[in-house]
Amino acid sequence: MNYLDQPIVYLKGVGEKKSEVFNTELDIFTLNDLLNYYPYRYIDKSKFYCIGELHTHTNIYVQCKGKIISKQILGENRSKRLVCELADNTGTILLVWFNNIKYFQTMIETDKVYIVFGKPTLFNMQINMSHPEITLEEKSYTWNQIPFMPMYNSTDKCKKNGLDSRGIEKLCKTLIDNHINEVQETLPDYIREKLQLIDKQNAIKQIHFPHNAEDIKQATRRLKFEEIFFMQIFLLQIYNHNSKNKGYLISKVGTLFNTFYHQHLPFPLTNAQKRVIKEIRADFLTGKQMNRLLQGDVGSGKTITALLVMLLAIDNGFQCCLMAPTEILAQQHYNTIQKLLADMPIAVRLLTGSTKMAERKDLLPQTANGNIQILIGTHALCEDTVVFQKLGLAIIDEQHRFGVEQRAKLWKKSLIAPHVLVMTATPIPRTLAMTVYGDLDLSVIDELPVGRKPVKTIHFYKKDSAKINQFLRAEIDKGRQVFVVYPLIEESEKLTLSNLLDGYEEFKQTYPEPKYRVSYVHGKMSAEEKDVQMLKFKQGETHILLATTVIEVGIDVPNASVMVIVNAERFGLSQLHQLRGRVGRGSEQSYCVLITDYQLSNDARKRMEAMVNTNNGFEIADVDLKLRGPGDLSGTQQSGILHFKLLNLIEDERIISAARDIAKNILNDDPNLEKEKNQLLKLQIECLKSQRKNYYQIG
Ligand code: ADP
Ligand code: MG
Repeated sequence: MNYLDQPIVYLKGVGEKKSEVFNTELDIFTLNDLLNYYPYRYIDKSKFYCIGELHTHTNIYVQCKGKIISKQILGENRSKRLVCELADNTGTILLVWFNNIKYFQTMIETDKVYIVFGKPTLFNMQINMSHPEITLEEKSYTWNQIPFMPMYNSTDKCKKNGLDSRGIEKLCKTLIDNHINEVQETLPDYIREKLQLIDKQNAIKQIHFPHNAEDIKQATRRLKFEEIFFMQIFLLQIYNHNSKNKGYLISKVGTLFNTFYHQHLPFPLTNAQKRVIKEIRADFLTGKQMNRLLQGDVGSGKTITALLVMLLAIDNGFQCCLMAPTEILAQQHYNTIQKLLADMPIAVRLLTGSTKMAERKDLLPQTANGNIQILIGTHALCEDTVVFQKLGLAIIDEQHRFGVEQRAKLWKKSLIAPHVLVMTATPIPRTLAMTVYGDLDLSVIDELPVGRKPVKTIHFYKKDSAKINQFLRAEIDKGRQVFVVYPLIEESEKLTLSNLLDGYEEFKQTYPEPKYRVSYVHGKMSAEEKDVQMLKFKQGETHILLATTVIEVGIDVPNASVMVIVNAERFGLSQLHQLRGRVGRGSEQSYCVLITDYQLSNDARKRMEAMVNTNNGFEIADVDLKLRGPGDLSGTQQSGILHFKLLNLIEDERIISAARDIAKNILNDDPNLEKEKNQLLKLQIECLKSQRKNYYQIG
């Protein structure tokens, strides 16, 4: 065991109480954990503030220099304090001591120049610093030895137990002064030399106690690299492992594909769709298993692309499955594909949780004997009773709703693992894709079908209901239909429902029958009831359809050209973008109407602005990432691989690319990390594997 794996209680200055607070508040259990608890920023002690420019609202520690112009003891008993006036030629502040009054009273001399360091606060309309650090200017040479003071996050409970930032700093200092030699290098020399990265011990020293800005830069660069590098090796190993998997050869472009392509395709494909089909076809020819992520914005036409690829597989004697995250979506895929294939001899069936026993009795054997060529469904497809004769291709739509395990389950349904195509509309910035889906190849549909008019987005406040209704009425009178979406209120299903029902009553009054028809769907309705309402809307019998987020992904109603989002501030940016993607599919100008309260948080306002300003999913994703941070981006949470201490997925693109490149080179040269020079790496990767067992199992 490494010395640093010892419990934190063994550190000088940490007793039972502090140890417990470290454990419960900061997740720090071992000495190593403390070493890896990096400052979140530094205070530049080489910078002096003018007293006149001090603010109390920034809540930061500052350093200033001035002359003590007065000194007196005020108050009695508990309010007894030493108060000194410190002045420079821009202003005056009060320095206040409640403890050790005698000491400071003797130590501090009037008319001398001091350097003080502390946090300005406002008291009695005057700027105060209580218990600042104070040194005579002439003695301050020791002061600036470490001009950057580290600031550590801590909690109220920490602070009560002496573990405020300064307290943590002191312990880090003790730890580093005494035990830095126990820190082991994790990167082989040849990699460090190549990238000019400083060694681990210095990196740790410098991240806590930098002497200058360059120290911080070197240390963070080294530590960031490490954070992403091992993960890249790890993901590339999975990738390499998978790409060795034997895969079915799908070589023939057969009759079904050709017939459909030349006779039944309802529109010409976009160039992006064609390119993706080519990329997938190339995979089919390698004899290796395909693992590909297909990324395409909402409405970019992933479904037809998937269908064409399935036809390739079927022409070569394989079965395919298409798995969707919800029943409604599975049903919709089924309807769409059935319609597209109406005149073709292809057996398509649907299997979901609500598929009746009688239907299953027919469907399951037909799947097992290979009669069914395309099986569409929800995760019901993963059930053990579903057996294929020869599953060649598994397509997963909206993968962020699926765990990795489900992917693995599908694989097992075939002698040789089927080709896997994962489709997602979540526009993931490149850096993130490289990291989250480092084990998949990436195809992108980066082009919308021609003739799509970009959806216009308008932001209204609730109080403007007259304007909103004027707008909606005009659209409906032109023959358009309107979606109205209410947010799911997580804490309270009841509240969600009552918001929706209240909304329904209001809409019914504003849009009276028989001229207008309003209806609604929500999660508590039975599947049949929902389907009836959806169908009525689809057929144009209702004008306004109110819904909770059930229509979030995938529902296709070309004549619905207005998407109203109530309490839009309650939705995340990517969700808003998805919802907006539900309109703009027909030939009419479409609109997305965001309705919010008048009072908005900063973040919410930025989300609304982003929606109004751009239709580009990648820009939206970027703003989203900036506002929320990657940990929050849908789909990345459950992968659990995005907890970086220092690395910033937006800003550190270069480090990430470098890490990926070098990881690739190393694995080309030494796929199993067997060479002597890579033993250190191997150790790190094994560590990572044991922490991420589930993730690795897909490989
Ligand atoms: P998504 O990528 O969001 O799943 P869909 O596959 O549902 O998008 O396609 C959205 C709509 O665009 C559908 O109505 C589909 O028929 C239509 N579509 C797809 N590709 C094209 C194309 N090349 N030209 C015109 N319309 C297309
Ligand atoms: Mg889709």
